[in-house]
Amino acid sequence: MKFILSILFLCIVNSSAEVPQGAEKLIKAYPDKISHYKDNKLFFKDGSSMIYDDGKQKNEEELLDNPDIEDQFKFKFNYTTPGTNDAGRIRNETFFKKIYGNSKEEVAKKLIEIIWCPKLVNQKIKVTTVNDVDKAILKISNELDQHPNLKPYLSNIGGTFNWRKIAGTNRLSTHSFGMTIDINTKFSNYWQWDCKCTNENAKLKYKNKIPQQIVDIFKKNGFIWGGNWYHYDTMHFEYRPELL
Ligand SMILES: [Zn+2]
Repeated sequence: MKFILSILFLCIVNSSAEVPQGAEKLIKAYPDKISHYKDNKLFFKDGSSMIYDDGKQKNEEELLDNPDIEDQFKFKFNYTTPGTNDAGRIRNETFFKKIYGNSKEEVAKKLIEIIWCPKLVNQKIKVTTVNDVDKAILKISNELDQHPNLKPYLSNIGGTFNWRKIAGTNRLSTHSFGMTIDINTKFSNYWQWDCKCTNENAKLKYKNKIPQQIVDIFKKNGFIWGGNWYHYDTMHFEYRPELL
């Protein structure tokens, strides 16, 4: 019996050792949606699966346009030196559709309306209930609401749910999934506005006016910040706990 148990234990240890770190992070981040990883496939709770690593070498453009799930972890999210890489901008669209909904209508069914910063702003916004993103945004909103100094940045927020493509690309914006929020555009820097172009090969000079205090509050609730990207978008926060 003891022998059988130790063999069983070794098998479990062995099979978990084969799970890539990225897949492990996804399973932990989306427990309601992803069940497990096996033989280079990520399995979802609805019984479907996706190839984890397509084995292809990709240049920067291909990483953005045609990434597999593994590529989403290509760059490490760098919170200490913003503007150095595009970690988190590499997204496999099919993956996010599986998590949040396959179409505008499917995503819309899972949205809920909340009041953003009731004391300072009092604006109605729509966010997804998938992964308890709504609860995370309420927590963020309640904490931000305690800091009147931040009011200008939080007022008149740029938007949450909006099923659309990223300007100049064929890629769906994460605003399509209801887990992304743009704060006040007035204090934001966006690479496309600065270079007056949509060309991702343009040489950019990093700029930011968003206080670190806001970034920190989003970060501790599972959100990455677009102000960290080489292709910076400083108003933009999206729920990506697997990258934190
Ligand atoms: Zn945005």
